[in-house]
Amino acid sequence: GTEKLRSRMLALNRDAARYYYSVLQSPEGAAVQAYLDKRRIRRGIAVRFGMGAAPDSWDALLTAMTHKGYTKQELISAGLAVNGKNGRLYDKFRNRLMLPVIDVRGDVVGFGSRVLDKSEPKYMNTPETLTYSKRRILYGMNLAKKSKRSNIILCEGNLDVVTLHQAGFDNAVASMGTALTQEQLRLLSRYTKELVLCYDNDNAGQQATRRALELLNNSEFSVKVLQLPRRLVDGEYIKQDADDFIKFQGPAAFERLLTGSENGVEFRLDQIAGKYDLTDDTQRIAYAQEVSEELAKLENAVEREVYTTRAAQAAGLTPEAMRLEVERTLRRKL
Ligand code: ATP
Ligand code: MN
Ligand code: MN
Ligand code: MN
Repeated sequence: GTEKLRSRMLALNRDAARYYYSVLQSPEGAAVQAYLDKRRIRRGIAVRFGMGAAPDSWDALLTAMTHKGYTKQELISAGLAVNGKNGRLYDKFRNRLMLPVIDVRGDVVGFGSRVLDKSEPKYMNTPETLTYSKRRILYGMNLAKKSKRSNIILCEGNLDVVTLHQAGFDNAVASMGTALTQEQLRLLSRYTKELVLCYDNDNAGQQATRRALELLNNSEFSVKVLQLPRRLVDGEYIKQDADDFIKFQGPAAFERLLTGSENGVEFRLDQIAGKYDLTDDTQRIAYAQEVSEELAKLENAVEREVYTTRAAQAAGLTPEAMRLEVERTLRRKL
């Protein structure tokens, strides 16, 4: 049945991970090793994450796994081989850094992978298979679940996780570029009730933060948002992610951001305030309306009161005026 097929897929994934791992230790893995060196990923961390190298070849994995007794159909089902136009099979992952995705039971359920240069696609992951469901998986969760830190840091990218763990933040996981799901929250809730969102500080990351906060609204989790500053380069502010930040500012600076990170409501209020010129009356009215929409989402009355006062102060309005606006919004929603 399906269970038997699935365990066969898991065995194949594990053997493939072992194969890629051994390639990285061999001369054939030199290009990937050079890439790891360039990104300052140390050997111990590469080993901890079971990283590997896919050779620059059309059928290296196919050959190795066929010798181990796996069929072509099994390689296709696991997403490791694809059918070419000429009817021939070839390796899906070629000349890439291989990042095994390991679930909380320790099973290799699939792979993430990165090219070594600027070519596209930058990342290639296992498609949906019997073992790999991107809605249910978080990269690094197999390690983060053992962390002594009380919270879990959620970031976007595989290498954000790797760099964070290397810097001592062994509670980092990544949703690998996809939007946070209810299934991932269920998984997280087995290990923590405190989340820190640490997405990239570009528009996509801000958007992802907003969507995650909506999903987490009135959930069992307490949520903080770690906002990475933009980096000033030649008079221009450029985006960064956790990996960039740690490389340029170091772990202590990241720890300070973590300590000072705002909760989700503060983050949303700041974001809304940033859109308006609060010295202009017309804009203050618009601000009050938008902010009251956000405050009306808070089910806890004390929390709502605290932030209503704060949002009023930020715009130089009386708490009473803001409270009336929030109540009006609440009534409209009934
Ligand atoms: P790097 O630092 O290696 O250049 P990144 O992690 O900063 O990459 P982002 O563009 O911020 O890259 O993407 C975040 C994550 O989204 C990636 O780590 C990867 O898991 C996923 N991702 C990005 N591009 C793709 C893609 N083309 N296909 C599938 N997943 C992707
Ligand atoms: Mn990004
Ligand atoms: Mn990055
Ligand atoms: Mn990034």
